[in-house]
Amino acid sequence: MAANSPFPSEVNQLNALPNAKKVFPRLGEVPSQVLQQAIKQLHRAWDGFQKIGHGFPRFKKFGQFKSLLFPQFKQNPVQVQSLPTCRIRVASFAVHIALPKLGLIPINLHRPIPTGFVVKQVRIINKADIWYADINIQCDVNVPDPMPHGHPIGVDVGLEKFLATSDGVLVKSPKFLRVMQSKLKLLQRRLSRKKKRSNNYEKQRIKVARLHHSIDNTRKDFHFKQAHALCDAGDMVFMEDLDYRTLAKAMFGKQMLDAGFGQFRTITKYVCWKRGKFFGEVNASCSSQECPECGATVKKDLSVRVHHCQDCNYTTDRDVASGQVIRNRGIELL
Ligand SMILES: [Zn+2]
Repeated sequence: MAANSPFPSEVNQLNALPNAKKVFPRLGEVPSQVLQQAIKQLHRAWDGFQKIGHGFPRFKKFGQFKSLLFPQFKQNPVQVQSLPTCRIRVASFAVHIALPKLGLIPINLHRPIPTGFVVKQVRIINKADIWYADINIQCDVNVPDPMPHGHPIGVDVGLEKFLATSDGVLVKSPKFLRVMQSKLKLLQRRLSRKKKRSNNYEKQRIKVARLHHSIDNTRKDFHFKQAHALCDAGDMVFMEDLDYRTLAKAMFGKQMLDAGFGQFRTITKYVCWKRGKFFGEVNASCSSQECPECGATVKKDLSVRVHHCQDCNYTTDRDVASGQVIRNRGIELL
């Protein structure tokens, strides 16, 4: 590019694609909508850099670009054919997804697409050595947000216990990473001894990626189960609005990320919405220093595990007290 040529806008670059395909024939091998998405992604990163203060958009290294986005479809790409019945198979279906340039790809459809829904976009994602098709569906209905009602629950999350509710339920921290860490350590050490980009390196890299992937899945499963347990126990769920990313940097680092509190809050919010329960976030500053019964300030450092109030003589577990303060603040907000 000449130094005085104008800044290439998104539209410019999109319009330049057909020509670019003639100059670089390899571009023609990529589905055209996927190419357009790459340009859109670049401009989103650039706008983030210019307006929001994100970092400078970087070039993606080999292996960093892990998904293909197909943003729209004229017809339903998911095709179900029933297979002829035979002695072993009673009734079975072959499900394929039809994608431009890639053709019909057999998939394992985890749940049927409900009637009345239209497939909006499909993202093909590579995780470890598994390929996923993430299908977004849309239906024009108005789902009202759940209104506050019924039994309130305040939830305090922490490292000592994974969560404590205002009703006195305590859930221990799952130490997935710690248990799987020794295995991960072994696999990673083996990886570090392989020659980069060699066949053996690639094989070992996939083993490490698989373990990370299974840790992620285990953690997510745990979070969903906990979120459903909260919804079983009450009608309104209140959580603190802490930004766990800054907390993770500041305090316990790995342990904090292991527990994945941010993801847990997102999942809880979703599960509450799905089950018609109210979800609220409250400011939780100093929630552990306050008495849930009388509101007096009870100073205690991290080593003190029991809340005991001098003013009203209320005694309970430290984290439960914190959950109760969060519940009280949530009710106040309403
Ligand atoms: Zn008190």
